[in-house]
Amino acid sequence: MIIAVDGPTASGKGTISKRLAKHFTLPFLDTGLLYRAVGWTLRDQGGNADDPADALAACIFDGTLLDNPGLRSETVGGLASRVSIHPEVRRALDKRQRDFAYQPGGAVLDGRDIGTVIAPDADVKLFVTASSEARAVRRFEEMKRRGEPANFDDILADILKRDERDKNRSTAPLKPAQDADLLDTTDLTIDAAVQQAIALVNARISGRHDKDPA
Ligand code: C5P
Repeated sequence: MIIAVDGPTASGKGTISKRLAKHFTLPFLDTGLLYRAVGWTLRDQGGNADDPADALAACIFDGTLLDNPGLRSETVGGLASRVSIHPEVRRALDKRQRDFAYQPGGAVLDGRDIGTVIAPDADVKLFVTASSEARAVRRFEEMKRRGEPANFDDILADILKRDERDKNRSTAPLKPAQDADLLDTTDLTIDAAVQQAIALVNARISGRHDKDPA
């Protein structure tokens, strides 16, 4: 079974995906980490994130980089968002994601274009959203917990900027697949959101869900 989970930054999709993977005993790939690894490598190489050739050169990185906690920083996230608009970069990361998705037994992947581009025939597609304010509050609290300096207005502005870039790029923009189930986590605790996600997956796999509501 392939479960594709897409959505904007800080929507809760990462936690939901990890918990779905655990619940359904499937391997999990956070595809954002691949783009973050490109952003990290580009910075190491002194490249320009807006230059497609520099960004493509940064697509060659050691797999162990994916375990580096530094990838989670806001700066690297911003670079990831910039390099991800280049079609060359998306193509370079494509095979790795597809191989993971289509491994025997299936997988859970989270990202921006899993249900639309990477695994368009996934068994279940969830599109996880939340209001930009709710997402900014979550990011703010997460940064404070990590002891990082955090300014709410800057975080909200950054989230809006990243949404804009992710939704409006010409290759693989962030959008729900036609047959995705929407999950709005604005007013949900993480446990409630996970329970709803599990229910949506179960409904899809038992065929009870109306795929094309009138
Ligand atoms: O999900 P995360 O915030 O780690 O992703 C970092 C950036 O990588 C996103 O802002 C997005 O621009 C890009 N990304 C993407 N496609 C994916 C995953 C992430 O374009 N499948």
